[in-house]
Amino acid sequence: MLVDDKICAVVAASKASEMQRQLSQAVRHTHTVEVRLDWLRSEVEIDRFVGQLGRHAARPVTFIATCRRTKAGGRYRGSIGKQLLHLAEAIRAGCTWYDLEIETIRECPPELLEALLGDGRQLRSAHYFRHLPGNLSLVAQELKRGDPQAIKIAAHCDSLAEANKLAEFASRHRNVIAIPMGEVALPARILALRAKNGFAYAPVENATAAGQTSLAELSKLYRADRINRQTRVYGVIGNPISHSLSPAMHNRAFAARRINAIYLPFLVGDLRDFLDSVDRLGIDGFSVTLPHKETIMKYLDGCDPLAARIGAVNTVTVRGPGHLYGYNTDYVGVLRTLERRVRLPASRVLVLGAGGAARAVAFALAQAGSRVCVSARRWDKAKALAGAVDGEAIERAKLRGEFFDAIINATPVGMYPAMENSPLEARELNCRLVFDTIYRPHRTRLIELAQRRGIETVSGLEMFVWQGSAQWEIWTRGRAPIRVMRQAVIDALAREGTLVRKGSTRNPR
Ligand code: NAP
Repeated sequence: MLVDDKICAVVAASKASEMQRQLSQAVRHTHTVEVRLDWLRSEVEIDRFVGQLGRHAARPVTFIATCRRTKAGGRYRGSIGKQLLHLAEAIRAGCTWYDLEIETIRECPPELLEALLGDGRQLRSAHYFRHLPGNLSLVAQELKRGDPQAIKIAAHCDSLAEANKLAEFASRHRNVIAIPMGEVALPARILALRAKNGFAYAPVENATAAGQTSLAELSKLYRADRINRQTRVYGVIGNPISHSLSPAMHNRAFAARRINAIYLPFLVGDLRDFLDSVDRLGIDGFSVTLPHKETIMKYLDGCDPLAARIGAVNTVTVRGPGHLYGYNTDYVGVLRTLERRVRLPASRVLVLGAGGAARAVAFALAQAGSRVCVSARRWDKAKALAGAVDGEAIERAKLRGEFFDAIINATPVGMYPAMENSPLEARELNCRLVFDTIYRPHRTRLIELAQRRGIETVSGLEMFVWQGSAQWEIWTRGRAPIRVMRQAVIDALAREGTLVRKGSTRNPR
């Protein structure tokens, strides 16, 4: 292995003082740090930062100095001569390694490199920001010419298949680092750390390549420094996926129960590409979100009967190589949320919407013995769903004259960012309880209107946590740490600023 650590923190900022601050944060997580001199805004700032590097000489830190030119995707605009002088200074200041791009090497006599940088260890790199090169052996061959201590190939990957190909290439060769770039490749990048020679870059603050995971996320959320061959792998597939709260919730639960498992976000446009990677990546189970909840069903070997009736699967277990089984825990989430608040048998409940979530809600309620009423903007869909659960479809215009034990919003109306909208007006809320399945924001306009009328309310956050805990229990066969999971979701919403709707009053009752 190149260095002792598997995670290399990347320190990158325009001012030397910022770089120093990031450096202090980096060494709390890892002892390998790349310093991106090319991010500094001037030659003066580079000299200042390199001049201060000596301060860290006593620390057991391995520094990699990088001063990548714009031609190679970096930010350094100076000449090659100046670039090499900065790297030479960095080596003198204590950097063990320097990263030099193939574009500079092609233009440089080897003797010059030896004379200026001979005291450092060379990491020779090639970057492909748009695509994965077709012939990786050819790229490696060119990089290895002149015998550098290690080589690095960083390439944008459009699919998990490409990311796996790059990671596997590195695992077959000594002293080769592979960096699959882009959001699709994120799981492959993290799972590559299971290998003995696994290596990942993680920015302290500023991402230096597309789709990078920050150092804090990598170490706190994914506990990537502990990942090994025994780590069980779970995740969520969807498109888009970067805003999913499931990784925060499931990883926190694994940590709380001290289970060696990781839960990753998979940006999946092409289901086939993901399914082909399930065995190769050693995935044990996964959550399914939009737009794959229905399509996934045709790839399963079997499925829970109720999920089949609902027509959507949000949870899959891998029961053996290529053997997938599906469940619908949205349905469990609805029941666990409601059963402690409403006496479901013999209750009359209105479901707003007739899409995927509405189907799970309607089937869950019918199963529990409720009389289900459906109101949706498309009458044919409302009628079809009501018919499927022996319920009744109700036109919006008639709602003012009706009373329900509970009203459940299963439409996206009121969801971030259009948070001022409500699927119903206050005068249409004739019920004892309002349950909004939306959890972004935690407190929607609908919930606010209901609270103003003194109606009991419940947020989609409850359903989200309960459906997640049911998934967790299916996979681990253990008891889910509900409180920890709820707190993880609340923390994540607070971090992104959607816990509270701007301008909403906290407790109007
Ligand atoms: P979906 O399949 O697209 O269905 C959305 C439904 O809402 C459809 O009936 C749609 O009508 C209706 N709708 C959309 N925009 C509307 C509008 N402006 N006015 C009136 N009706 C409208 O989506 P889904 O998967 O069911 O998700 C719906 C919501 O459920 C999401 O926004 C999400 O917040 C929530 N959800 C929460 C959880 C949880 O764990 N808390 C889990 C799953 C879903 P058309 O058919 O006419 O378009």
